[in-house]
Amino acid sequence: MIIFGTRTTNPTAGQGLFNCPRCGPQKPYTHKKQKRWFTLYFIPVIPLGTAGEYLECDACAGTFDMEALNHDPAAERAEMFDRLRRLSVLAMLFANRYQPENVNALRAALQEITQDFIAEEVVHQDVQFAQQAQAQLEPTFQSQTQDFSADGKSLLIRLILSTLAPTRQVEAQDHQTLHRAGAAMGVPPDVIEQAIAAHVAGQ
Ligand SMILES: [Zn+2]
Repeated sequence: MIIFGTRTTNPTAGQGLFNCPRCGPQKPYTHKKQKRWFTLYFIPVIPLGTAGEYLECDACAGTFDMEALNHDPAAERAEMFDRLRRLSVLAMLFANRYQPENVNALRAALQEITQDFIAEEVVHQDVQFAQQAQAQLEPTFQSQTQDFSADGKSLLIRLILSTLAPTRQVEAQDHQTLHRAGAAMGVPPDVIEQAIAAHVAGQ
């Protein structure tokens, strides 16, 4: 009787360093490429191709999709904060609040969140880009916040409030801009009103 079957082996296809999603930056990984074999008497004889591949972290033994090679939390964090800043700048423009005190309020609020220094020039550049691109409020807020959680949207609304009304005087143009941005993000009007009330109350 001839006994045949298939077997999967896990040979190493490569090694390197990656930012492990579980245990942190610059960890050694092993790239595993599963191969399927046709076996005769339990001995692999003919390769049947690649069954799948993955990364194994040598530090924590976690296994990850090949996508993890592109995982860069520092870059993702910077990209997220850039987005928060540009959206706040857009709200500042639409509320007619492009004034030195508002620019500084935005910088201070962002610095509190990110712990990074934000140069005044960065905000002026955002304004220029937004004006050149003729960025519209609703489509931009809609497309740029699609992957935000409800908490992320709340954070953005608080950031905009700090930018538009640093002295906690929320005027009609601020209300209108916040409601338009909120509607584009799918945030109900009463949630916007609560955020405004909290800001005015100094919370
Ligand atoms: Zn790890």
